[in-house]
Amino acid sequence: MSGEQKLKGKIAVVTGGSRGIGRVICLKLARLGANIFVNDVCDQAIVQGILDEIAGAGGTGSFLPFDVADTEASSKALKSVIKDHGGVHILVNNAGITRDSLLARMKAKDWDLVMSVNLKGAFNCTQAVIMAMIKQRWGRIISIGSVVGSMGNPGQANYAASKAGLEGFTKSVAREVASRGITANVVAPGFIETGMTAELPEKVKDRLLSQIPAGRMGSPEDVAEAVGFLASEEASYITGQVLHVNGGLICD
Ligand code: NDP
Repeated sequence: MSGEQKLKGKIAVVTGGSRGIGRVICLKLARLGANIFVNDVCDQAIVQGILDEIAGAGGTGSFLPFDVADTEASSKALKSVIKDHGGVHILVNNAGITRDSLLARMKAKDWDLVMSVNLKGAFNCTQAVIMAMIKQRWGRIISIGSVVGSMGNPGQANYAASKAGLEGFTKSVAREVASRGITANVVAPGFIETGMTAELPEKVKDRLLSQIPAGRMGSPEDVAEAVGFLASEEASYITGQVLHVNGGLICD
């Protein structure tokens, strides 16, 4: 394990950590020295790859399977980490899904599903760890939003609403716990090269690229660097903020 171990002794939970952006966040936090709990809804066999990578980098990682949309399951799993390991210091609410369709055709069940994973999932996980963070007088809650939470996107009324909701949620939590050494922030990626965006038609990708001043899509590493910074001691006075990682797609 090389580099500065700024997060040594910290316990981090990353939801939806088996692939995409979450996977790279797990690796980044592990390289910074944190003990990583990789949450996901998939089988152990799928998560083994990232656990091996964490171990290969000299870090410590374990699989913590549960569905973030399930309040009871989230609470049970996270409370067991707190009981067995003495706390959770860093929570990254990364698990997210899309169920895209134009509003006129959007099914209520797709609205509910996206809200339950993207927004209620963050509520479930944050609520399960907040008392432990308050008691330990230190915590980092980092939720992965999206540029579309700020700018909207046709076909993503459910997804954009869930990501905008995360911002209001985060700002409220930040105000509630700032005096206890806990920060809560959103990292809002633009268009990042992962499985989620791989499915976009080439024409749509070209149109998106033409709107990004940096001239490229982002990488999961671009997002993970922002998360690593917000998790650090150096970011202790930054709370209730939305950090956009989008190559200039929106500047506000
Ligand atoms: P991926 O689809 O690649 O990964 C999402 C992960 O979340 C998967 O491992 C998935 O598991 C897991 N997951 C889904 N539902 C649940 C659940 N109920 N409980 C626990 N885990 C779950 O997405 P990305 O890496 O692209 O996205 C990560 C985050 O970044 C999301 O919040 C997304 O909205 C956000 N984002 C992504 C952008 C992009 O361009 N890619 C842009 C802006 C924001 P499984 O594979 O088993 O389904």
